[in-house]
Parts: sequence; C-alpha cells; structure tokens
Amino acid sequence: MNRFKVGVLGATGAVGQKFIRLLAEHPWFEITAVAASSRSAGKRYDEAAHWIEPIPVPPQIAGMVVRECDPAELPEVDFVFSGMDAAVAGEIERKFAEAGIPVVTNARNYRREAHVPLLVPEVNPDHIAQIQHQTFDPNGRGFIVTNPNCVCVPLVLSLKPLADAFGIDSVVVTSMQAVSGAGYPGVPSLDIMGNVVPYIGGEEEKIMWEPLKLLGDLQADGTVRNSSIGIHASAYRVPVIEGHLLSVLVKLAKADVTEAQAREVYDSWVSPLAGLQLPSAPVKPVLRYDEPRYPQPRLHAPNENGMQVTMGRLRKAGLFDFAYTALGHNTIRGAAGGAVLNAELLVAKEIIRPRN
Ligand code: NAP
Repeated sequence: MNRFKVGVLGATGAVGQKFIRLLAEHPWFEITAVAASSRSAGKRYDEAAHWIEPIPVPPQIAGMVVRECDPAELPEVDFVFSGMDAAVAGEIERKFAEAGIPVVTNARNYRREAHVPLLVPEVNPDHIAQIQHQTFDPNGRGFIVTNPNCVCVPLVLSLKPLADAFGIDSVVVTSMQAVSGAGYPGVPSLDIMGNVVPYIGGEEEKIMWEPLKLLGDLQADGTVRNSSIGIHASAYRVPVIEGHLLSVLVKLAKADVTEAQAREVYDSWVSPLAGLQLPSAPVKPVLRYDEPRYPQPRLHAPNENGMQVTMGRLRKAGLFDFAYTALGHNTIRGAAGGAVLNAELLVAKEIIRPRN
C-alpha cells in the first residue's frame, strides 16, 4: 500500500523525537513534515532539535526544514501526530481538526472532551465510535484522538484482564516515574540524582480520572459513562531514565477470587487487537512474570520495542484482594508509541483515509 503522509507537530521535543525514531521505517506511515514553535521554524531539523535519542537523526529527516504548526503549512499530509507542549496544543490541534486534518495527540488538552476518544487500543477500541460525533470539521474529515497519561497506560492495561473477569471495586496506585516523563531538560539533576521527589504537579489527578474514562462504557450518543471504580494515586519521581513502575493494590467486585484464578486470567487474556496485524501492536500486550524481582525498568521497559506492559509480584493483599507491580515504557507505550498504535487502529478501521 502507499504510505500515509504524516506530519509531526512538536517534532523537536522529547516525544516528537520518539515519533521520528518510531516512524523512520514504519511500513504504513511516512513523515513528510516536521513542525514546532517559531523558535525552530525555518531551521533544518538537525539544527533545531536538541537530539536525545541514542541513534543518529534519520537521514531523511535531518535536512527537513521545520515548519510552523499551522494547517496551511502542511497541505500535503493525511494526518498529524502531536507531541506539542500542552500550553499551546489545545488551540493548534483544534485548527488542524477544523481544517480537515485528523490529529492523533499525546497532549492532555482534549482527553476529557465528551466526544474525543481517550484511547488504548487493547482496552477500549470501541470508543473510536465517538469520532463520528465530533463537530470540529463540517465535512467530517478532521477529528482529534488522544492517548492517556503515561502512568495510566500500564495501569489500565494491567487492570483490564481483572476488570473483564471479576469487575473492580477500588484501586490504590503508587507510581515511581522516570525523569524522561518530564521532557527535556526536565527535572533538575540536583533535585533527582540520588534522590526521590514525592510530588509531580498535576499527575495524581490524571491518574485518578483517566482510567475511569478508559474503562467506561460507550453510550449511544457518543459519550462515555465513566467507570465507578474508586482510585487513589500517589506519584513519585525517581532517578530512572525510562520506564514508570507502579505498585498497585486492587479490590475486586467479586469475592473470594484465588491467586491461581487471577494468574490464569492474565496468562490467558487475549487482546482485542489479535488478528488485526497492526505493525506496532505487541504480540503480548501484558506479560506477567513469576520471578519476584521482575519487572524492572532497565530490564523490561524495552520489551517488544517498548510497547509491552509487564507485571509481577501478583499476590493476595490484606485489606485489598491483590497487590502487584506493573511497568510501562513512558515515552514509547505511554506517549509516541501509544499514539502510533492508535493511528494504526484508525487506519485499519478506515477512519483515517488517504487525503486524495
Ligand atoms: P518538550 O520536550 O518540552 O517538547 C515540546 C514541543 O512543543 C517542542 O517540539 C516545542 O518546539 C513545541 N512547542 C512549544 N511551544 C510551541 C508553540 N508555541 N507552537 C508550536 N510548538 C510548540 O515536551 P515533551 O516531553 O516532548 O512533551 C510533549 C507533549 O507530550 C506534552 O503535552 C506532554 O504533556 C505530553 N506527554 C509527554 C510524555 C513524556 O513521557 N515526556 C508522556 C505523555 C505525554 P520548540 O522545540 O520549537 O520549542
């Protein structure tokens, strides 16, 4: 098939660079435009970006001239990915959707909008039906799809098998979050080296709200009735480069579930993406370890190209039913890779179509 022409908005940032790396050899998508702020526009990409990926800038991107984040500046693209700063993403993403250009974004601005999907393809693929209720573009071509906060991805993917099998009453989650989650230059080294910071502004609110929409029920009017699960979250910044580790306590809706039953639910869970052949979909979206030292960020965040969520230490837990540890790669599965997978699902479902 001809590859879709894609633009990357916020292409110079930490998430933008991950998009460039992940899309450099993508079988369905070809980057034809990179865009960022007026500070970068007009420069060659390799001069504008402070490149932090451990491979060289892909040669076909290095010499591209960075454009302004304006739909008139990207006339050829079929759709855009967005890794823009949230301070500006709201207005710019709306302009692209109004101009008939689908936006697949990492930014938080539209996650709570009534008809905008907050999407993890293995968790709530049916929520893409919300798109047909969006009114950004009278011609129905432009729309916005969001992916969740980087902690919510390993949290909901690891809760989903339990939710499907037993229902969930309540969750207490403590996140140990990598410094790359704060972008570049991010957390000052004097704050984080040899240290733990027990607060990340705005994070706990997102972790307590976004899973409710992700695990909620799609209604006939295109809205989502949020799940009634009770969630409490504590977010900590730790001196890890990539990979958010979560300590999770779960109380199930069903009583007397044994540890063996819970293990079996994880080991036999089949992703709703099975059979769709999406290029970035992990073969096993959630892998459970029996080894009690696993998962660990340095060892397991890169599993399946950073797209697999891992978990371990599943055990009975006093006041709650179960405790476990979960891990997700924050800038791949929790950001750029998650958005690429969202776009692949939208292409497979013919919601993103070639422009001409
Ligand atoms: P970042 O490194 O600070 O990058 C921000 C990007 O936004 C840069 O490309 C920047 O361009 C661009 N930008 C800033 N002002 C702009 C303007 N006025 N017009 C157009 N573009 C502008 O941030 P990041 O960590 O990549 O995060 C990007 C987004 O993804 C944020 O919304 C963040 O919340 C979200 N996110 C991040 C992570 C993560 O793990 N890091 C995970 C999930 C979601 P210049 O270089 O030209 O300034």
